[in-house]
Amino acid sequence: MKTVTEARALILQSIRPTPVEHVPLAEALGRTLAAEVVSSDTIPPFDNSAMDGFAVRAADVERVPVTLRVIERIHAGTFPSSQLKEGDCAQIMTGAPVPKGADAVVPVEWTDRVESTGGWGGERVTIGRCPEPGQHVRPAGGDVQAGALVFHAGQVVTPPVVGMLAALGYADVPVRSRPRVAVVATGDELAAPGQPLGPGQIRNSNGPALAAQVASAGGEARPPLVARDDPESVRAAVEQALEADVLILSGGVSVGEHDYVKQVLDELGLELLFWRVRQRPGKPLAFGLLRGKPVFGLPGNPVSSAVCFHQYVRPALAAMLGQAGPGPQLHTALLDTDIPKPAGLHVFARGKAYTDERGMLRVDSTGPQGSNVYSSFVQANCLIHLPEQMEQAPAGTPVQIEWLHW
Ligand code: AMP
Ligand code: MG
Repeated sequence: MKTVTEARALILQSIRPTPVEHVPLAEALGRTLAAEVVSSDTIPPFDNSAMDGFAVRAADVERVPVTLRVIERIHAGTFPSSQLKEGDCAQIMTGAPVPKGADAVVPVEWTDRVESTGGWGGERVTIGRCPEPGQHVRPAGGDVQAGALVFHAGQVVTPPVVGMLAALGYADVPVRSRPRVAVVATGDELAAPGQPLGPGQIRNSNGPALAAQVASAGGEARPPLVARDDPESVRAAVEQALEADVLILSGGVSVGEHDYVKQVLDELGLELLFWRVRQRPGKPLAFGLLRGKPVFGLPGNPVSSAVCFHQYVRPALAAMLGQAGPGPQLHTALLDTDIPKPAGLHVFARGKAYTDERGMLRVDSTGPQGSNVYSSFVQANCLIHLPEQMEQAPAGTPVQIEWLHW
């Protein structure tokens, strides 16, 4: 039996990144950058105004009030045609390029239009307050310098990343291709969706839940597969699943009489890296490589299945996508209720974490912790990690929680 840490390490050691593909920027949301992004542009590309107002030479407005000639009007999207000389200013809009000679912008609120003698060049403006040199001017490169490293490879494309890539001129983006993941649910008791339940049957909830976890981890779930509890049926499903990059089998990995998954995988030539982890839920977890492809045998109880995916499959998919894997991000919270803690097993308990009136992070159990009790998993917003060596977890214990962000 492996520890949680050993199991995770064995998995991550056998993972290779997926190939690179290029996708249009509009389709890049949620994907993972396959290369670092170095800016070839300067943003903004030119000095521009942060305000609607008047571009001035700061030296001309050291003493106020002062009246200046308005020699030009510069809108965003145009370029100034003249250079400011002593006593000149240019009316300017936010985002418009600052003309040569100007080194500050006076906001329109600090000015008074005085006269218009008719005809361009006759306009004057009185400045009532003096700007600092450089004030209200956004310098070229003030946001991003040409040559700057903007993103590392492995960056997940979030909405702000889309915005930055657009600003940098990317029409398409190199990303890691989505790992294709086959999910095989095994069990004679499983009824297909939409079918009435026969005697002794239950609905296959792991299949859809795992496919959803695959998608939310950046993978592509292949069409669902179901196998009966007989070696032939399991073998046929696994052969079909081998078209994918990663295989997940649900159920049949324990020591029950009809648990054929390990036997069949062994016959097909699985290189088994481990079976069983000192954890609850999810002790019978199996992992190996079949024709070089990672294969996860997840226990069938719905909470075991979901937790094992979260702890092991998800980091594996992240590694295939080239995302840096720091391991679970843990935060300290005070436990509200006693949680049963078997010695020698790492427990992942379902919790609801919250901040109390004093600003302390606290966590309560969401209820019964049996690995079949899915409702207490659905209510959880975090997993409480109770490490192997911890002997008990009474109320008041500081514990480590991992937020569940779906
Ligand atoms: P097993 O790991 O095959 O021994 O299954 C353990 C428990 O999980 C049993 O109570 C099964 O009925 C249940 N189970 C197995 N597969 C699924 C599934 N796909 N959806 C929901 N429950 C399942
Ligand atoms: Mg079973």
